[in-house]
Amino acid sequence: MASAEDRLKNLTSENSETPLGQIPFIFSASRSAQKEFATLPMPQRMKVLSQLRHLIVEREQEISRVISRATGKPPGEALTTEVMVVADAILQIEKRAPKALGKQRVKTPITFIGKHSYVEYKPRGVVLVISPWNFPFMLAMIPVVEALAAGNSVIMKPSEETPEVGILMESIFKQLGIPEGTVQVTHGGRLLGEALIESKPDFVHFTGSVNTGKAIASATGPLLIPNTLELGGKDPMIVFEDANIERAVNGATWGAFSNAGQVCMSVERLYVENSIYDHFLDRLVEQTSKLKLGTDDSSDIGPITTSAQFQTIQSQVKAAISEGAKLLTGLDPDKWNPTSRLIPPMILTDVTHQMEIMQEETFGPVLPVMRFDSEEQAIALANDSRFGLNSSVWTKDASKGKRVISKLITGSALLNDVILTIANPYLPYGGVKDSGLGSYHADSGIQNLAIRTAVMTDPGRPLSEINWFPYQGKDELFEELLKSYWGASRNFAKFGISYLKLLSKSKDRH
Ligand code: NAD
Repeated sequence: MASAEDRLKNLTSENSETPLGQIPFIFSASRSAQKEFATLPMPQRMKVLSQLRHLIVEREQEISRVISRATGKPPGEALTTEVMVVADAILQIEKRAPKALGKQRVKTPITFIGKHSYVEYKPRGVVLVISPWNFPFMLAMIPVVEALAAGNSVIMKPSEETPEVGILMESIFKQLGIPEGTVQVTHGGRLLGEALIESKPDFVHFTGSVNTGKAIASATGPLLIPNTLELGGKDPMIVFEDANIERAVNGATWGAFSNAGQVCMSVERLYVENSIYDHFLDRLVEQTSKLKLGTDDSSDIGPITTSAQFQTIQSQVKAAISEGAKLLTGLDPDKWNPTSRLIPPMILTDVTHQMEIMQEETFGPVLPVMRFDSEEQAIALANDSRFGLNSSVWTKDASKGKRVISKLITGSALLNDVILTIANPYLPYGGVKDSGLGSYHADSGIQNLAIRTAVMTDPGRPLSEINWFPYQGKDELFEELLKSYWGASRNFAKFGISYLKLLSKSKDRH
């Protein structure tokens, strides 16, 4: 087989796509590898993860370059927002997974005296990870690592828009030397994704657009395949007059324009309190105008990754301008270059909340700005969206910031910062409303990639139980039990007596 480097050099859609006919073999390899992998004791499983982490760190330059070439983002940004985030997530998973997936003892109610209860986690089996092109390394690798930690095998289907990254990840898992079939990378688009789901994986972890998320929900639903859907966003940023203005300006600029705005958690709507609006806007325009557009390593903003995305951004900005919005920075959309796909960052004012640019995900370097007069109005504007991924509130008054956050209907939120929650592996990550279903990251994310078995044990010595047959003569005693333990006047002595009488009645017949 050709090396990853050779395959990257000669990449065409014909030589890189996985034939659909291979899917049954991919699944049978995955199922047999999983049986082996699941027998590895936890410390050894974690050793595999730490070897993976070391490999990623060793190959960081190559990985950042390949991501940059595939997406257009600057290599330095690929390093900090993808490679470093993955390395850190793996390290945290190595630390937390053994406890998160260990047996968890829980209490047992008094009426089940003598019994014990615990929760046990077992691998689900074959986990399918379908990922998008905007963070093609990070959004594929983290769910894969969580799935491996839980003892699953994984079939990956990275985005067809960034095939280089798929090939690179395949070469990383080959070099890791885990048994064949434990992690398999497939290459292709929608048809491949659909066919993989039809082959009934045991879990689907999907990251991508709302429309594809809905298609996946309708494909997995009838097959009852559990899944996590991480979908789009239209994240609001609320800046109060008492915020650190310079920090908020810089945060808005990075939050809206990093990765050319192609971040699910990009700042896509900016609400600024009336009293500081004009000054804030002047500073925002000044800072935005300094950003360097281009393809060399020192650029801040690279090209839009796909032509389709370029057209979506163009159409939304044109529609907003035709409805009265004003462009304070950037270029008229008719003058954008579809060949280079470099779009200068835009600040847009005079927008209304009914405009598409304020309601639909744009996924590009455009920041529409609106004013607000009160806390209530800012909250109402932020929540007036079908999306609910992330949000941010900017104020020096921490209690006001937290009060506002507790009223925002979003899966995550930040005070005086942007985007960052996704990079903290201790926080669960997932959207609400149209932004998704379920979550990953944190202990709950790792546990979600496992089957949870709730266990109760009994020493097995008594011949019967108080609630088993015969029922005759027990109703009154059960009523006494109910009233003495759960009623308003608790009487533990009475409870004990009723319990003992029930026990002796249960013994009568044996
Ligand atoms: P997309 O939905 O077009 O594609 C995502 C993946 O799904 C690709 O691998 C694609 O081949 C596959 N796919 C497409 N149709 C399929 C089907 N019917 N069955 C199975 N697989 C199918 O998304 P995209 O354009 O690659 O990514 C951009 C979108 O992803 C944006 O909406 C963005 O907000 C969202 N996103 C969300 C998060 C998050 O964590 N919530 C992160 C990044 C991106």
